[in-house]
Amino acid sequence: MSSTKSIGVFIVLLLSVIDIPNVSGFSSASKVITSSSATTSTKLTMSSSDAAAPLSTSDHVLFDLPVSNNGARVRAIIYKKQLSTQDVEIISPMRMGGLKSLEYLALSPQGLMPALSIQKQTPLANGMKHLSESDTIARYLLAEYAGVGPSFQPDNPRSNQICRWHDVYLTTIQGCLYKPASRLPLGDYADRKSAISAFQKNLKVIEGFMSDEGMYLCGDEVSLADASLFPTCIFANYMLPKFDSSQPPLPPKLNTWFDNLRTNDSVFAKIYDEIMDTLVTSWEETNHRWDSIWLAGQRDEAPGTIFDKIVAKEIPATIVKEDEHILAFKDINPVAPAHILVIPKDRNGLTNLRKASAEHTDILGRLLVAAGEIANDSELGFGDGARVVINDGYDGGQEVYHIHVHVLGGKKMGPMA
Ligand code: 5GP
Repeated sequence: MSSTKSIGVFIVLLLSVIDIPNVSGFSSASKVITSSSATTSTKLTMSSSDAAAPLSTSDHVLFDLPVSNNGARVRAIIYKKQLSTQDVEIISPMRMGGLKSLEYLALSPQGLMPALSIQKQTPLANGMKHLSESDTIARYLLAEYAGVGPSFQPDNPRSNQICRWHDVYLTTIQGCLYKPASRLPLGDYADRKSAISAFQKNLKVIEGFMSDEGMYLCGDEVSLADASLFPTCIFANYMLPKFDSSQPPLPPKLNTWFDNLRTNDSVFAKIYDEIMDTLVTSWEETNHRWDSIWLAGQRDEAPGTIFDKIVAKEIPATIVKEDEHILAFKDINPVAPAHILVIPKDRNGLTNLRKASAEHTDILGRLLVAAGEIANDSELGFGDGARVVINDGYDGGQEVYHIHVHVLGGKKMGPMA
């Protein structure tokens, strides 16, 4: 199987589809898939002019790329069971015109990898000619090739628990490791920091589901849980240190399992090489992907300010409002009868407003909502309205480089200076 890089196509796919770069296809073939069933007949035409030859004559075509995390779970099954290319041929989605081509979307409505085209008549497929979602594809192949190689189901409840937890709580936020700021928020998480923290918390939860014995997650035999979690741990092991190198990326038992598999199991070693090859060469060395990702490339290296000490309650302030994210307190040198400062507790790079990025959308909203609530509080001396000001930089007259909102009121303001 080839894992050579195709950088030009990589960029197109990266921008237009998901966060998985294209690498050249796994195999070469022609341009049309022809498939049929008792009830349907589907002819998937490729974007090329050669519309005659079938893309593959194998029983199944898996559309996938070596870097694909979810596809890797299916590839682990194919490699472990030593399925032939007549059983399953692995082909790049680019051969269908890319993940967002109409041809590919007909196979996989979300435009994601992997997708399986079922070309042979199989009772297990129940008339379906295409499957998407790696868990569905994996379980179909496990049933279809149940008599070949490991079952991947040695401890079903434990394996299923890990698979489900992985798919619901890790897969949905793992983009926090590599998505650009413009793709935030991630599910329930407004910023990268909180998504990464939830990701790590769920790795620990999954660790708690592991068997205490054997090399694999469910004991001595490989399971679907290993196939599902291992690729995600490749991403985590490689990317989490970019955000915080002070602690190990994987919790201890998971780390032992991960190291064991990548060094002592040839199939998982192959999966590791396939994914890492693209992550290191294309994502890192060629595209410098992390340079612009907040906390991975860009960091808050500005010196701390007096406001950090106020947040830490090391120096006193008259605090009027506080929650998990913000702190509001009276200005020590008020320039109006009512003068409150609202600050984020975690500066997180926001020394001043010109540093704001999509990573800060949530906290900026919280600051303004708090400012509005404060301006509405007559007990703080506010009347009918307030002036809300953010000073930015030298020209803006900013003195403290920890973003803050001034809420000024208690009198009728004059024109802006
Ligand atoms: P800037 O000029 O940076 O927009 O505003 C900084 C504000 O912080 C000033 O209005 C200043 O009076 C206030 N400030 C500076 N140090 C302290 C402090 O130690 N305590 C309090 N409560 N306010 C402070």
